[in-house]
Amino acid sequence: MPEATIIQSTLEEHKKKALDFVEDVTTNPDYYQTKALSEILSRNANVEYLQRYNLNAHTDRHTFKKLIPLVSYEDIQPHVTRIANGDTSPIICSTPISEFLTSSGTSGGERKLMPTIEEERGRRSLLYSLLMPVMSQFVGGLEKGKGMYFYFIKSEAKTPGGLLARPVLTSYYKSPHFKNQILNDPYANYTSPTEAILCLDSYQSLYSQMLCGLCHHHLVLRVGAVFASGFIRAIRFLEKHWSLLSHDIRTGTLNPTITDPSVREAVMRILKPDPELADFIESECSKNCWQGIIPRLWPNTKYVDVIVTGTMSQYIPTLDYYSNALPLVCTMYASSECYFGINLNPLCKPSEVSYTLIPTMAYFEFLPVNRTDALTATDSQPPELVDLVDVKLGQEYELVVTTYAGLYRYRVGDVLRVAGFKNKAPQFNFICRKNVVLSIDADKTDEVELQYAIKNAVTHLASFDADVAEYTSYADTSTIPGHYVLYWELNVNGSTPIPACVYEDCCLTVEESLNSVYRQGRVSDKSIGALEIKVVEQGTFDKLMDYAISLGASINQYKTPREGTPGRIVESGHKGTGLGDQALLECHVAKESVDRTGRPQ
Ligand code: AMP
Repeated sequence: MPEATIIQSTLEEHKKKALDFVEDVTTNPDYYQTKALSEILSRNANVEYLQRYNLNAHTDRHTFKKLIPLVSYEDIQPHVTRIANGDTSPIICSTPISEFLTSSGTSGGERKLMPTIEEERGRRSLLYSLLMPVMSQFVGGLEKGKGMYFYFIKSEAKTPGGLLARPVLTSYYKSPHFKNQILNDPYANYTSPTEAILCLDSYQSLYSQMLCGLCHHHLVLRVGAVFASGFIRAIRFLEKHWSLLSHDIRTGTLNPTITDPSVREAVMRILKPDPELADFIESECSKNCWQGIIPRLWPNTKYVDVIVTGTMSQYIPTLDYYSNALPLVCTMYASSECYFGINLNPLCKPSEVSYTLIPTMAYFEFLPVNRTDALTATDSQPPELVDLVDVKLGQEYELVVTTYAGLYRYRVGDVLRVAGFKNKAPQFNFICRKNVVLSIDADKTDEVELQYAIKNAVTHLASFDADVAEYTSYADTSTIPGHYVLYWELNVNGSTPIPACVYEDCCLTVEESLNSVYRQGRVSDKSIGALEIKVVEQGTFDKLMDYAISLGASINQYKTPREGTPGRIVESGHKGTGLGDQALLECHVAKESVDRTGRPQ
């Protein structure tokens, strides 16, 4: 058989296997959920955590639900700390914890540490292996070209007991599973050399990945990154550095700022002098208008593969602008705790994206959420959790997982809504992360963290006998990178005017008081811009309340929204009331770098 035919038939087999798997698990979700729970509980029958609740090796749902409590990170943190400190006894999992995955969710300002075990990598790889077979049902011939994906790793830490703590994607890109995927998966044909993805220096990594993407520009059939914010950052990088990149392409030499020897070697395998391509890049990039720059530079691109659900939806207009409205494809829904599911209809509109949870990944439960009750299941009533196959169309739920790595009935913090079914498996719209008020990149700042940061900052106003009477906040993504904006209404009793430098100190203190994911985004990744404080006229928030009450809000229950500009909040219900930026008195931006405290990132 000719080689091309062999490759084609291997590809068809690979696709069929993946699609058959999806068909099977979505037709029998309850069977696979029962199996997953029973496997998890039987393997871990001897662990301290389950023994403490007297599960006594039961593996059925009924006993499990009766005896094992619903928990949040703070409840399991003591166990996490023991494992991190080197206790290797079977505390939560009978299989040794292989490493901790550092979540972008934080607790007490620091990243949550999620335990994982070696075999979980297999489950993550399985989920990845489904994505392209699903996509190929809608877009053909993707195996004939390349994907230009901007992937990055982050630095790793070691716990006192010697376990690695790093982000899940860093762990995956460094794993043999990723290498295997690159070698064996016909779709894993990326423009970025693995050496560039694995380079810790984000400038060198992005420069090299962009350069290789440009060199292969005619072969690129799809472009992307994990989240929309990362992809926009890459385009922004191109806006700043295209002349250096095109110089390298013209001359076939690599910029000396790329010093990592393995990256240089990998790039030099691809880079050849190509004055024609350099001319083309320069003529496109030097035009004033960057609208449609993606299809202009990569003319065969069929879609942009980035997550634009949840807080990332704020980037849709920018992506539409750069891509001339190419399809935006959200393929999967995952977390450090567990990979959850995939989008079986990837060409749908971003607003219609739904994820089908794959019932072999973990045991899933769902806590009904009434969003008018501020997204909390009332603490007074014990929450009734439902199983995957019992969720109701249109109802919202908080996701709860029991994983192979030792999380039992763990509240992930995401709110999902049932959008439909694939066979018997429900499909969920991602609605939001509970309580998150601000997010630009991976950061997820909740109301408590924001309140704490503002409380700290307000101390700078004390000597002026001033205080913050009311505030709201806004993630401004009209700048690249985006940044947090705080709207403050002040109570000023003193007569000395407050100088601008005091507000700048306030900006800085807020930034220093926010969680480590925010600080890392500001300082190391530079994926978040300087925080801004906008002082509004006295009475602005009263007008906002009057307006809400005029729409029927109860005075007793009215709470100032902590997210949204005063203008936007009003305009979302009513156009042109004249609040918002017209009420602005002054704006102040953080000047110094947020890392002046030298705190760990
Ligand atoms: P991390 O723990 O840092 O891996 O972040 C996982 C969280 O990112 C999830 O719990 C979600 O809140 C969010 N997330 C992951 N995938 C998606 C998606 N496809 N759409 C919206 N949010 C997502």
